[in-house]
Amino acid sequence: KEIVRLDNVKKSYRMGEVTIHAVDGVSFYIREGEFVVIVGPSGAGKTTVLNILGGMDTCDEGAVLVDGTDISKFRGKKLIEYRREAIGFVFQFYNLIQNLTALENVELAIQICRDPLNAEDALCDVGLKERMQNFPAQLSGGEQQRVAIARALAKNPKLLLCDEPTGALDYQTGKAILKLLQDTCREKKMTVIVITHNQAITPMADRVIKIKNGRVSSMTENPNPMPVE
Ligand code: ADP
Ligand code: ADP
Repeated sequence: KEIVRLDNVKKSYRMGEVTIHAVDGVSFYIREGEFVVIVGPSGAGKTTVLNILGGMDTCDEGAVLVDGTDISKFRGKKLIEYRREAIGFVFQFYNLIQNLTALENVELAIQICRDPLNAEDALCDVGLKERMQNFPAQLSGGEQQRVAIARALAKNPKLLLCDEPTGALDYQTGKAILKLLQDTCREKKMTVIVITHNQAITPMADRVIKIKNGRVSSMTENPNPMPVE
């Protein structure tokens, strides 16, 4: 089943006299339960595409279908509700609240969700059973990213969107996070979309979307994705 379809999506930013075409006619589709990698050089438009898909930004033109609904015209309350119910976000620098424990971070995020999962279960699922009462500063980078992943998954979202989730981690820790994301995709049948500038992780994806200069330069399906080991 198709869960995402972007059709000729455009977004530009005006900076005084200059107009930057950040996203310049992007089209692609994603099937439910896929592990998708969006790859491309810095400045290519990857984050803008992800933010439009996640309702963090709006596009100027085109259609953004998520589970059959065009969200591109959503504004205000509708956009907030879409972001709250349908989307889990994972960022490069975790974006945890420093004066809340791991458990409180997850609980706060799901407080207003309609159909959340249990916060403790979500933390157990990412391997943090023993760390729930710790504050972010007491956790390693990899553990903090696990809290962020638990927080996103506890919302029980349709899409898990990850923007350079390993960008702040060392190689081994990054690999473990990548493995967690791939396992989550397989075990929970979650649609997971990961942005990276690193070509090395494309063999692990079911689908690779390459973005260059605001456009899709290629989209490939991988019939035999490699497990992250
Ligand atoms: P990537 O994620 O591939 O590095 P981005 O989507 O962040 O690329 O950026 C694409 C282009 O749009 C870049 O040239 C960037 O400078 C520009 N851009 C992104 N966000 C803004 C903004 N809020 N205002 C102005 N320009 C922006
Ligand atoms: P970045 O510049 O974003 O840190 P990296 O080269 O570190 O890019 O790659 C991102 C993450 O992907 C790394 O943290 C690493 O753990 C993981 N990774 C990279 N290459 C491989 C690979 N061949 N197999 C498994 N994991 C990989």
